[in-house]
Amino acid sequence: MNHIADRRSIVLAILASLMPLALQAKPSLKVFISADMEGVAGVVTADQLHPAGFEYERFRGFMTAEVLAAIQGARDAGATTIVVADAHGNGENLLIELLPYDVTVIRSWPRPLGMMEGIDSTFDAAVFIGYHASTTSTTGVRAHTLSSATLTSVALNGIAMPEAGISAAIAGHFGVPVVAISGDDAAVAEAQALLGKIEGAVVKKAISFHAAATMTPAAAQALIRAKVKAGVGRRRELSPYVLQKPVRLDVSFKHYRPGEILSYLSIVERTGAHSIRFTGRDIVEVSRFLEFLDGYSAELAP
Ligand SMILES: [Zn+2]
Repeated sequence: MNHIADRRSIVLAILASLMPLALQAKPSLKVFISADMEGVAGVVTADQLHPAGFEYERFRGFMTAEVLAAIQGARDAGATTIVVADAHGNGENLLIELLPYDVTVIRSWPRPLGMMEGIDSTFDAAVFIGYHASTTSTTGVRAHTLSSATLTSVALNGIAMPEAGISAAIAGHFGVPVVAISGDDAAVAEAQALLGKIEGAVVKKAISFHAAATMTPAAAQALIRAKVKAGVGRRRELSPYVLQKPVRLDVSFKHYRPGEILSYLSIVERTGAHSIRFTGRDIVEVSRFLEFLDGYSAELAP
């Protein structure tokens, strides 16, 4: 009898008995999904985008289905934890009962990180669903940045930004790369020009501000699932979008008075009749300032 071989086989048997435990401890893979609505397949006007619109109830269902497709794509690539930020309008669009039981949803406003509330440095990848082109785009469906009613341009460190850029910079602050985006062709092209070769699900082609040639919801969902799976799979080859600090924010308003009254604050510089500048320590501070711009009114109640 060979005692050394015998001992070795005992050690191997113990190791083998521990294997199932090792296999159970799956590595965590956290994916953050920020969901807007203008870039959802079929969306072209306010009829789909606001609760008063005659098609809104159906289209919040399509938005939810696109998010569900993104969740499935992320899981196909191994995601174990998913957080979804409802980032359109009142932030109460997603039909949360249709999402998997272990998904966390961020709802309503205000929130310091805006469309990216809920992200932190524990995430491995960020995904944008239903995004649209910037207010400086001449082609996208419902193209705007943060507010089509009040803002005509938003720039960070001198670069005009779509919402995808602002959201990517917040993800980048936490070291998280953006891996995929869905929206119309203008939104996807803008994001890829800024962020590099992220996966893009083009679910419609913009014809004008209020018209598009669109895929059907089912086809768009299949495309989103495949692109998100590919993006999450490629997360290690995509770099986080990191802005140099401090971060300079330039905003121009449609109207005259916001810039005038904001410049009463010593942290705000008036750069023109309709424009102001705010410099934040980092993008988080800039995000809080943007949320203030969007959310403050002397008539806030409660
Ligand atoms: Zn929106």
